[in-house]
Amino acid sequence: MARHWLTVDSEKRPTLAVWRFAVLLIAVLLLQATAHAADPDAKRVMILNSFGKDFRPWGEYARTIRSELSRQSRWPLDFQEHSLVTARSSDENPETPFVDYLTALYAKHPPDLIICIGAPAANFVQRQRSRLFRSIPILMTAVEQRRIRFDSLTENDTVVAVKHDFAASFDTILRVLPNTKNIVVINGASPNEAFWLGEMQREAKPFEGRVRFRWFEDKPYEAILKEAASLPPDTAIFWHLMNVDFTGAVYEGDSGLKRLYAVANAPIFSYDDGFFGEEIVGGPMHSVLKGSQDAATAAVRILGGDRAGDIETPPSGYAEPKFDWRQLQRWGISERLLPPGSAVYFRDPSAWVQYRWQIVFVCAVFLLQAGLIGILLYERRRRKVAELEARRRFGELAHVNRYTMAGELTTSIAHELNQPLGSILVNSETAALMLDSPAFDVKELKEILSDIRRDDQRASEVIRRLRSLLKRAPFEAKVLDVNEIVVETIDFMTAPAQARGVSLERVLAPVPLPVKADNIQLQQVLINVLLNAMDAMAHTEKSKRRISVSTARNEDTAEIEIADTGPGIPAGKRNEIFEPFYTTRPNGMGMGLSIARTIIDAHNGQIFAENRTGAGGAVFRIVLPLARSAVSDLAAS
Ligand code: ADP
Repeated sequence: MARHWLTVDSEKRPTLAVWRFAVLLIAVLLLQATAHAADPDAKRVMILNSFGKDFRPWGEYARTIRSELSRQSRWPLDFQEHSLVTARSSDENPETPFVDYLTALYAKHPPDLIICIGAPAANFVQRQRSRLFRSIPILMTAVEQRRIRFDSLTENDTVVAVKHDFAASFDTILRVLPNTKNIVVINGASPNEAFWLGEMQREAKPFEGRVRFRWFEDKPYEAILKEAASLPPDTAIFWHLMNVDFTGAVYEGDSGLKRLYAVANAPIFSYDDGFFGEEIVGGPMHSVLKGSQDAATAAVRILGGDRAGDIETPPSGYAEPKFDWRQLQRWGISERLLPPGSAVYFRDPSAWVQYRWQIVFVCAVFLLQAGLIGILLYERRRRKVAELEARRRFGELAHVNRYTMAGELTTSIAHELNQPLGSILVNSETAALMLDSPAFDVKELKEILSDIRRDDQRASEVIRRLRSLLKRAPFEAKVLDVNEIVVETIDFMTAPAQARGVSLERVLAPVPLPVKADNIQLQQVLINVLLNAMDAMAHTEKSKRRISVSTARNEDTAEIEIADTGPGIPAGKRNEIFEPFYTTRPNGMGMGLSIARTIIDAHNGQIFAENRTGAGGAVFRIVLPLARSAVSDLAAS
């Protein structure tokens, strides 16, 4: 069927023009239908864009004017937008059908106001004014004053224009980047852009002694972009427009500027804040908002009944200079060099502004933590001082306790000393007598002298041990063999034991028992336990008074067991005897075992007491951790 339709005779086939007309008619009818449906009180505003809705900077102006107008207007508004595609080229031929189209579109319901955005739109309406809604007011805006033919404005026309000042832009570039040697100007090739090329070149003249200008008059934009990627140092780019390039390629929206920014190796400046916001360093600029507000004010007056021709708005110049902080950072531009009154936008909010509460919170936590740490450190110091003090006091107490023990041993020590001293006296007298006799036996004399030496050593040994027991010495742990300490202590206690009729036996482990211990303090514990045992056996039958000291090695510990044949620990007092001031002796202080336990605790050991089953008597057991390194040394040997 379609094939058949396509092959109909050329006379019968509708011409292209007829089809176009049909489509136009349908579009017009549809639009009119919509217009009928609209609010009857609404003011109809037709917006005529120069190139299209999204060409910068006019797209920004159109949007802002719409919103400003909606804000200022007392009436509901019905916006209808059209774009003047003819502005892209110098071909004015399609203007007539476009005028026809608009006239047909609004034949029944003409707009209340036409707002032309940009110079091409203004030029178009001025050219076509006699045919285009002669009685409808027209507001020409977002246009530079040089682009308006003021002498041919009708009484229904008004202009809200701006005034470019390229010299101010070039001057700003040289002010903020004083080393600039080249200014590259980006500008398109549409009739409007071509007009401005001449204007910019004229305004650039006074700067030519200071800086070299580069104008891309006959280059496709692609080639310009290539060049922009490797510009010589000390170059700045002045962005004017790039709507249509030399080859006729169109750059809608912000695509032209965005692509330039992506490749350019130099800072980009401009003259209109419709371009500002990402790519542009800044400078003195037209304010889209200010221009749109002025335009909206004029529009509202016209909609309210004022004659357009009576509204005179002087062209506005650049607003206060504005700069993009991020671009200033990128190109190392000091804020001190900015023109007076400059505003800096997009400043990175400081960490304080961004995270104030988090920072306050973290600081508070830190302060709290620091405070707690301070308190803890202070407490730790106090505890250390207290510990040192306690240790010092304990040392003194232990020392006093040793004095007490020495007091208890005085008789036997005196006896221990008397014996060798008496022997020395007798032997020396005998030797003297022998020397007086004419024929003395030298061999016998030598034996006597040897006895004297032995007795002297014995007495010296007693005194040495006593002195070491009474020494006021700080706690000093060394690796010692428990067996040696036991032997030494038993030697020391043999005389007192004999004096009390106690037999002192020892059974030593066949292996060394290295422990990390303070010799004097460990001996003090042993002497204390031995003395207690002897005291406990004071009423035991003499022949049965026996103390056996044995040592043994367990897996990790060395053990000393001291068993006596006395009455044993009073029932239920096995733990109490280690409490301070627990004593059953009439002259006792009850401190000995308490000190002994503190000493053993300080050696990371344990001391227990129990009663022997069967044979009777008490057993004291001291368990000390073996010194590890010493144990492995021994194992290796
Ligand atoms: P003190 O010797 O001044 O009494 P200790 O702390 O050395 O102080 O002894 C506390 C108590 O423990 C002794 O009074 C005694 O009642 C009991 N005790 C200690 N050793 C023995 C023991 N071998 N047999 C029986 N009781 C003992």
